[in-house]
Amino acid sequence: MEYARDARRLHAVEPRKFKVYTHHQLDQIPALAGLPAEQRFEMQVVANVLPFRVNEYVIEDLIDWDRVPDDPIFQLVFPQRDMLAPESFSRMADLLRGDPSRAEVRALATELRGDLNPHPAGQMELNVPRLDDETVDGLQHKYRETVLFFPSQGQVCHSYCTFCFRWAQFVGDKELRFALGEADKLHRYLAAHPELSDLLVTGGDPMVMKTHHLEGYLDALTQPAYDHIQTIRIGTKALTFWPYRFVSDADADDLLRLLERLVRAGKHVALMAHYNHWRELETPIAREAIRRVRATGAVVRAQGPLLRHINDDADTWARLWETQVRLGIVPYYMFVERDTGARRYFEVPLARAWEIYRGAIKQVSGLGRTARGPSMSANPGKVEVQGVTEIGGEKVFVLRFIQGRNADWVQRPFFARYDETATWLNQLQPAFGEPKFFFEDEMPLR
Ligand SMILES: *Cc1c(COP(=O)(O)O)cnc(C)c1O
Ligand code: SF4
Repeated sequence: MEYARDARRLHAVEPRKFKVYTHHQLDQIPALAGLPAEQRFEMQVVANVLPFRVNEYVIEDLIDWDRVPDDPIFQLVFPQRDMLAPESFSRMADLLRGDPSRAEVRALATELRGDLNPHPAGQMELNVPRLDDETVDGLQHKYRETVLFFPSQGQVCHSYCTFCFRWAQFVGDKELRFALGEADKLHRYLAAHPELSDLLVTGGDPMVMKTHHLEGYLDALTQPAYDHIQTIRIGTKALTFWPYRFVSDADADDLLRLLERLVRAGKHVALMAHYNHWRELETPIAREAIRRVRATGAVVRAQGPLLRHINDDADTWARLWETQVRLGIVPYYMFVERDTGARRYFEVPLARAWEIYRGAIKQVSGLGRTARGPSMSANPGKVEVQGVTEIGGEKVFVLRFIQGRNADWVQRPFFARYDETATWLNQLQPAFGEPKFFFEDEMPLR
């Protein structure tokens, strides 16, 4: 199919040039000129520690500047003072006021980042697979049937989320950067592991890559040696941050043709789209991008974290899921914000997260109730808060593994003492006076 001339096209779209601002160019963003100088300085302080990158589409088409600073998309991409602890903020602010050298700023930034748990959930140490006795750096194999692949050209994003859980790789921390850069190693690993059914290509955002790179990784999978790879998922926020990637960029049609080839070869192709707010789904270009991706036969599934200041109420999630269903997207996960980066600013207690989830799910039709959550991607696995109840006079959280480091943990209910303020699995205590959770013999939590 010639996508560019597709008669079912809903909107005429002018190609748009990708223009992006990073923290050195914060002062050059026209839309910020109207904000108070103090607020701009605060952004500058935070942007020296946490990643900052925003493109013109997000600034001009997604943010409602009349609602700044409360606008959810503004909060999603622009740094805010309280994202750093007060002492950290003051130290960086004091330094910047004294006309420091770049090296001084970098040194303090590195120190402050070290306090922000740059690598949560043991990603680096525990999940790196081996091939012929060598470690394969750009792969992560945590759950039996699924392998994560971090193509080296896909380790940035079209903009950066202020709550990003992979933020460490965006601030030049080379040690923490996943990279493979080698299709051959990926292919050899997949061929050697018949137990795998799912390949999940992730980043950063793999959709920042040129289509010919994606072809180099993915086209081979249509060969018989990879018949066991039934599902190819691509994690992306490009449907939000740069929908032109799928519509008018020079290699947009090539990308759609690649997806279509994979579908025709019998693969289940899923774009795992990262969404935080229904506002991301409102622009004509975002809708056109979704429509074109779906026209290839690929499925769009949606996931994203629950975040204070952005989407911490039930109505926002209900509208997000409803809109997704209307656009043919399948709601998949509501995540709990991970224990890293600016988490202090965004975290929502688990008890409240569950109330929001329940409040939203009961408003939507059955097709919107496919979202699981709230789910914590913790060291032992993905743990879902199923509810709060009382058993034998004790108020408890009911929990289950959606995914477990040991597949046998999956779907067994277990219980934690109710705690109104806990925001993560390692803050929970087993219920009923038990000394530990059932899985802690194999994998201690603390
Ligand atoms: C979520 C996740 C997966 C995929 O899990 P599904 O339940 O199949 O969506 C795979 N690997 C890791 C490390 C993950 O966090
Ligand atoms: S899209 Fe994902 S990887 Fe990219 S900045 Fe946002 S949270 Fe981080």
